Amino acid sequence: MAKEKTLSDAFYETLKDVYWAEKQGTRSLGKAAKAAKHPELKKVFENHREESAHQIERLEQVFEIIGKTARAKTCEAMKGISEEMTEDLEDFGDTKAADAVLVGCAQAVEHYEIARYGTLKSWAKQLGFADAEKLLGETLEEEKRADQLLSEVAEQVANAAGGQGEMEEEDDEDEEDKESRSELDGSESDEKSKGKKTAKK
Ligand code: ZN
Ligand code: FE
Ligand code: FE
Ligand code: FE
Repeated sequence: MAKEKTLSDAFYETLKDVYWAEKQGTRSLGKAAKAAKHPELKKVFENHREESAHQIERLEQVFEIIGKTARAKTCEAMKGISEEMTEDLEDFGDTKAADAVLVGCAQAVEHYEIARYGTLKSWAKQLGFADAEKLLGETLEEEKRADQLLSEVAEQVANAAGGQGEMEEEDDEDEEDKESRSELDGSESDEKSKGKKTAKK
């Protein structure tokens, strides 16, 4: 009969997942650094890519601490986030919104990592691996810092793109967006919103 699974098993499985995610994240950061137009954003991506190389080493240390082989297991979440980035680059890579879109993709990566490292850190504590808890905590802080830097640089990127004037010009398109959005809400609410619109007019 199969052995009953424990928190230790969950810890090892999640480590493998994050190990894969971190490697994939490093590749995505390289891609993002190349694609970024704003020099500050490029720098944030390049710096965090270097940081991520250390994070991979830390994960290898954690595998060692728990006495397990360092192995990577496909993280479907990070795979999906990476695929979205590729898609977004195809759609927005040549536009003024390219950098803003890249920041958005990168923040999705950081938030996933923050969630994972937060969990791993608390599991390490519960399992009594103090050294692993410390290593995972260091990475967690780096991920939070990266997310914060992205938020800061996002404002500069938005200013550089100077989108306000354009927004006004594209008012008509915004209206169209609103209508197609209400179509997505389903027929009932669609009817209601149409009713409201005509009532106002
Ligand atoms: Zn990462
Ligand atoms: Fe990371
Ligand atoms: Fe995952
Ligand atoms: Fe990160």
